[in-house]
Amino acid sequence: MLLSEPLQFATPVKGVSAFNLTRGDADSNPYGEINLCDYTGDNVIHVVTCRAMLCEHLRIPIDHLVMPRQTHGNRVAVIDHDFIQLSFDERSERLQGIDALITPLAGVCIGVNTADCVPIVIADPATGLIAVAHAGWKGTVSRIATQVVQRMVQLGANPANMQAAMGVSICNRCFEVGDEVVEQFRTNGFDLRRIMHRNRNTHKAHINLQKANLLTLHETGIPLANITIANRCSRCNPHRYFSARRLGINSGRTFTAIIRRP
Ligand SMILES: [Zn+2]
Repeated sequence: MLLSEPLQFATPVKGVSAFNLTRGDADSNPYGEINLCDYTGDNVIHVVTCRAMLCEHLRIPIDHLVMPRQTHGNRVAVIDHDFIQLSFDERSERLQGIDALITPLAGVCIGVNTADCVPIVIADPATGLIAVAHAGWKGTVSRIATQVVQRMVQLGANPANMQAAMGVSICNRCFEVGDEVVEQFRTNGFDLRRIMHRNRNTHKAHINLQKANLLTLHETGIPLANITIANRCSRCNPHRYFSARRLGINSGRTFTAIIRRP
């Protein structure tokens, strides 16, 4: 059964809705029940069936559902009329190594697949542009959020008007990292006092990925009052959301998406 949960902006944007899917009736199968991601080992028939269910739910044709082949990078692709016209193979090639999408098109659902990483959706009310990004720790360190906002600005949007929301992802308490990860944040200019703490018992470092992305989004000019964080942890709720830290990387992914209606 396809269940979606709304992802709320601080101020609703007319015609725009964002959401994430839940696992549905999750069982011991690491891909069960609902998984749209086709590159983490799931059966392709299952993936295609789940995608078709979502398109039926959204009442859009299957070629209006677009998700990238993510690689923890910071490259952004714009989904326009020309892209929609491409063949399946051409589309796949364009989506390879992409971790964020932007579209000016109404009726096109763009989304990312995550299991602990932070999904970010952004909408600009004036231009109608919408965006989605996948920010794991690598994407966060390389400031994928900045790449998305700057590209939206090139397309005519203004950060001061944008609304941003972060969806289901690993919480601060669950996200224990090695000191080499902390070092990456430090050398890339993040203020560790604001995004890191050490567990008193284990002395292991913990990074707050949502806070790191919040600071990045704010640096780009989006007001803090326009940024929300969903208080839902994937690792704390593995029966509701996919969590790579619970299920291993050979598991399903939680789909987080945004769509603007005509
Ligand atoms: Zn947690």
